[in-house]
Amino acid sequence: MPEGGSRREELTRLVMAADPVPFWLDQPDAPAPREPLRGDLSCDLAVIGGGFSGLWAALLAKEANPGRSVLLIEGNRVGWAASGRNGGFCEASLTHGTDNGRQRFPAEFGTLEQLGAENLDAIEAAIGRYGIDCDFERTGSLAVATEDYQVALLQSAAEADRTTFLDRDAVRAEVNSPTYLAGSWDKHGSACVQPARLAWGLAAACERLGVRIAERTPATGLASDADGVTVRTRRGVLRARRVVLGTNAFPSLVRRLRPYIVPVYDYVLVTEPLSPAQLAAIGWRNRQGVSDTGNQFHYYRLTADNRVLWGGYDAIYHFGHAVCAAYDQRPATFALLADHLFTTFPQLEGIGFSHRWGGAIDTCTRFCAFFGTAHRGRIAYALGYTGLGVAATRFGARVMLELLSGERTELTQLEMVRSRPIPFPPEPLAYLGVQATRWSLARADRRSGRRNLWLRSLDAAGLGFGS
Ligand SMILES: Cc1cc2nc3c(=O)[nH]c(=O)nc-3n(C[C@H](O)[C@H](O)[C@H](O)COP(=O)(O)OP(=O)(O)OC[C@H]3O[C@@H](n4cnc5c(N)ncnc54)[C@H](O)[C@@H]3O)c2cc1C
Repeated sequence: MPEGGSRREELTRLVMAADPVPFWLDQPDAPAPREPLRGDLSCDLAVIGGGFSGLWAALLAKEANPGRSVLLIEGNRVGWAASGRNGGFCEASLTHGTDNGRQRFPAEFGTLEQLGAENLDAIEAAIGRYGIDCDFERTGSLAVATEDYQVALLQSAAEADRTTFLDRDAVRAEVNSPTYLAGSWDKHGSACVQPARLAWGLAAACERLGVRIAERTPATGLASDADGVTVRTRRGVLRARRVVLGTNAFPSLVRRLRPYIVPVYDYVLVTEPLSPAQLAAIGWRNRQGVSDTGNQFHYYRLTADNRVLWGGYDAIYHFGHAVCAAYDQRPATFALLADHLFTTFPQLEGIGFSHRWGGAIDTCTRFCAFFGTAHRGRIAYALGYTGLGVAATRFGARVMLELLSGERTELTQLEMVRSRPIPFPPEPLAYLGVQATRWSLARADRRSGRRNLWLRSLDAAGLGFGS
């Protein structure tokens, strides 16, 4: 491929030939749309949002109490948003990694690790129990160093976290990239999944247990009285004793929660399936999910039909907290991602791309979920997964149901559940702050990880993010 400007043009042509839709959702056997809600209805538990948060909440509620009537309303289609368009890394961590968790919740970090491991096992068990066909592969994950200073980081992380450190030859024997200097393989804490199929399978499991699901039914408002909650929709009113909010990066129906979240867009490419010769040139026999170690990091993995999914690096925040379909496409980011893919795997130079897309990540200032209730305990929410919610949303769903029960439980007493992050400032400060942080993180990556005054100030205020 040509060098310089013409290379960028060539890469742009290559990526723009891909379909502008999430690979995971673009399946011939995708479920037919479900009917919207019409008229007035009542139920014990209303769930708003048909991503992993809402689906797990509905399923766990029914499993715990089959007699409870549960109705889930989804504004668009089940799994169409973050849950059907992520990287499919299904990780045990509830805290967006060990460093973030250990730093924020030192006293209970061991408990959170244990709960996270149990959560991942419980997801695997539910997939088996309900026969959900979602290519769940307990591959583990590989963190790779591509700069000298990152080797020592992985080495000390491996010692602290009981992952397996791989030197240059060992990591390249796993996944063959000329850019790798070392790696750290977490063999147990991570799986790869086809996330849209997981969402569709959870919805089907919910329905088999008696949950009613209405799609294309946005909730437009909430009100409560002594008897429960009124959920307004365009074509009717839903009365519920309790409500779970699983609305993620979308504007919260509880307005006071809005400053806690900014939607940050993340972008993904998927290649054509690799030929046997291309796959052999990379190795990747253990099919781990891979991520590199910079502040701006890529994540990548194989799909069941041996395409490479390649995403991350270039997270974009748009002024004013907007979530909108136009942001799902960003040609400059796709070309950059393709460039980085070919640098990592020159063996794939020239391979075509089948899909390109983006999606909104519900970013909060502590980089892992927070929880709570509104309307005097009748509505529960879990928000702020910040890009690591494929598995953690099941834990969040448990927390929401336990908060709604009003009982003191192990989960409701966790510091992670009782505390909340610092909100973002209003615009234009939020925008300026996010841009300054992005710029500084990119600069730190170019300076062997050295953090400038802005990042050190955020670290000191408990707002820093190292990876
Ligand atoms: C590009 C990308 C890559 C990612 N990669 C990973 C990864 O590899 N691993 C990982 O762990 N996490 C990843 N994540 C994050 C992960 O996908 C999310 O944390 C998780 O899917 C959140 O699930 P959710 O159900 O809370 O949100 P969503 O899946 O966004 O679901 C929220 C739902 O609520 C609905 N809704 C909103 N408002 C209303 C309303 N008023 N009325 C009715 N319905 C409403 C929406 O239509 C939507 O369907 C990634 C995210 C993105 C965008």
